[in-house]
Amino acid sequence: MHPPSVDSVANALLEHLKHELPKSICVDIARKVIEENKANKDVALSAEETIEKAKDEAVSYLKNTLTEVVNATGVLLHTNLGRAPVGFSQEPFYSNLELNLKTGERGSRQKHAADLFASLVGAEAGLIVNNCAAAITLILAALASGKGVAVSRGELVEIGGGFRVPEVIEASTAKLVEVGTTNRTRLKDYDRAIRKHSVELCLKVHKSNYTVKGFSESVSVKELSSLSVPVVVDLGSGLLDAACPWLEDLGVGPPKWLKDEPAAKQTLLEGADLVAFSGDKLLGGSQAGIILGNHELVKKCAKHPLARAFRPGTITISACRDLAMKYLHRKGSEIPFWQMATIPVENLKTRAKAICEKVKSSSISYAPCFSTTGGGTLPNVEIPSFGIHIKGADEIKAKLREFEVPIIARVIDDNTIIDMRTVLLAQDDILVKALKSL
Ligand SMILES: *Cc1c(COP(=O)(O)O)cnc(C)c1O
Repeated sequence: MHPPSVDSVANALLEHLKHELPKSICVDIARKVIEENKANKDVALSAEETIEKAKDEAVSYLKNTLTEVVNATGVLLHTNLGRAPVGFSQEPFYSNLELNLKTGERGSRQKHAADLFASLVGAEAGLIVNNCAAAITLILAALASGKGVAVSRGELVEIGGGFRVPEVIEASTAKLVEVGTTNRTRLKDYDRAIRKHSVELCLKVHKSNYTVKGFSESVSVKELSSLSVPVVVDLGSGLLDAACPWLEDLGVGPPKWLKDEPAAKQTLLEGADLVAFSGDKLLGGSQAGIILGNHELVKKCAKHPLARAFRPGTITISACRDLAMKYLHRKGSEIPFWQMATIPVENLKTRAKAICEKVKSSSISYAPCFSTTGGGTLPNVEIPSFGIHIKGADEIKAKLREFEVPIIARVIDDNTIIDMRTVLLAQDDILVKALKSL
């Protein structure tokens, strides 16, 4: 039996995927499948079977490049799913990224969004970099290179994805000076460290993804601000203001589950000299790292050579600018993360019920469940939600992931759960279609 030619298989793939997959990649896939078939002497595939196999590979190739999915996990900031949902569609454009339109001279890319965030929290100045890890590395390199940085032993945390506080400090060329103990750190521990070692900075790190219960004690930002060195707070999550004024527009106040979460505005008011946080956690935007606070310190960060290495591009700056404007206009309803996080359970129940009624299957039902914020934020917090429960576990979960718009669900006991809180409104029809096909 003659194997089909690479060209004929590649052309079949181009046609099958309506030319969405470039020719060179179709050729690579065709060649690979034909070679594999040759190597496998036991079960030689016919020409048709070879083409079918190549089609499966091509579809899977295309899908595994960045594609839209349905987040049915109930985890609002799922790191594997890109944390906060972000949108962009923009024709190519030139911008005044680094042009001062008033003077015609070179301007700063940091003016467009960083200043807006600074004004949101009443900070003197701001700087935007690629993520919070970059923000912390830059701050330490710019303000404490070769000098001591005091951190409580209870805050030497690992956030996940390689962010470990001692290693970040090492990479920044600052020197870690550990103070206190794992469970208890007091102001006099910091005081002693400043006197005995050449400590230039105190770094307070939000524990983010775990809690300490029992015999524990930590030092507040207010107490730290009485020390003789600047206080930098790595907030991680990026809640801007504990009062959440942008939620008025959604007709709700600050959710109960946020009550222990430190916010940028209040942390600065308590006396932090700088705060840093992510753009894509509770801020609900694109990946970015935002530094806000004292003008002189921000200036030092901006002038450090690493600021060039960590600087964001037009797309990030543009997304941050638009997000900051939404916060300034107090339009929580236009920030998908906040809209989803605060949507009443009743609405989720109505949607789950409507979907079940359309699908009409005895193996699905709707019932309460719990969402989480995720993304290494707010451990132990459960947000009441409503979901579609499908009989069957891992096999169903895998099938949903294979759907044309992959649906990422969660398994609890013997059921696969589709949590409606994290499903975008526009995706309900995708669910109906997928569930009917199961
Ligand atoms: C998440 C987190 C980081 C890392 O933020 P990225 O934006 O992912 O780099 C750093 N510090 C804390 C406390 C965090 O929670």
